[in-house]
Amino acid sequence: MKSLSLIHGSLSFRPRLVAALGLAALAAISATAQNAAPKQEIEGFTNTSILPGTPWHQHDPNRPQPPVVTPGETFSQMAPAPSDAEVLFDGKDLSKWESTRGQAATWKVQDGYTEVSMPRGNDLRTKGKWSDFQLHVEWATPLNPTEHGQGRGNSGILINNQYEVQVLDSYNDKTYPDGQAGAIYGQMPPLVNATKPPGQWQTYDIIWESPRWNDKGELTQKAYITVLHNGVVIQHRTELIGSTDGIGGGAWRSPSVYKKHDAAVFIELQNHNGNPDRYRNIWIRDLHVAERQ
Ligand code: MG
Repeated sequence: MKSLSLIHGSLSFRPRLVAALGLAALAAISATAQNAAPKQEIEGFTNTSILPGTPWHQHDPNRPQPPVVTPGETFSQMAPAPSDAEVLFDGKDLSKWESTRGQAATWKVQDGYTEVSMPRGNDLRTKGKWSDFQLHVEWATPLNPTEHGQGRGNSGILINNQYEVQVLDSYNDKTYPDGQAGAIYGQMPPLVNATKPPGQWQTYDIIWESPRWNDKGELTQKAYITVLHNGVVIQHRTELIGSTDGIGGGAWRSPSVYKKHDAAVFIELQNHNGNPDRYRNIWIRDLHVAERQ
């Protein structure tokens, strides 16, 4: 920005022709610089299964990158919980959570947030369960990231340890689109990339509809999810193919299939190799959909 203002300043002292030549040269230099910039390798796989209804492989690096959208400044940041919501984390204590290892929640809590803490794989899990819900959660990826792709501030909102809404630093950094921030991991990229820079607080407002099975164990309703990322709709009642690969005991890069479970589900915050993501202001509303039917 500094060099740009110097260029603009110098233009005011020169004839128009020289200015035009200067701009042309600047454009040429800029184009050369862009061409010379190393092209980021996009990680991914093309030896995985084809996702139903698409031409794309699971974790396909060739799937189109969602367009970048700059979100509004604040949207639902620090949104107070509605009267019928249950506050899951108010920035002070983790009493509504437990370790997925069946122990007390031990993530660091300070300055109004909790941070993913070691040991690796030690996710946080809610003690409560809900069938269909509206979830508000705020998160920030680590400042000054050095990694790229899936190693860049990876965490996630896991539902029932079976379905993942990806949390990742996807600001100016690419990965396979069905694994970037706001993706239903391994299934559906976000409609757009509304990611904020690392270290800044971001919001997810998630509407979840649990899958249902009948008494015979037959799937009668698939799961649906709607996600707003920093106030931008990135998943619009997306139908899930099944469970997310690589969590809940399933093999990574295996085809997604539904595995029967109760309609009521818990929520987890993922500890992905100890990437120090932060979370704050988490609340949930039970939609009581079943009672209306
Ligand atoms: Mg993740």
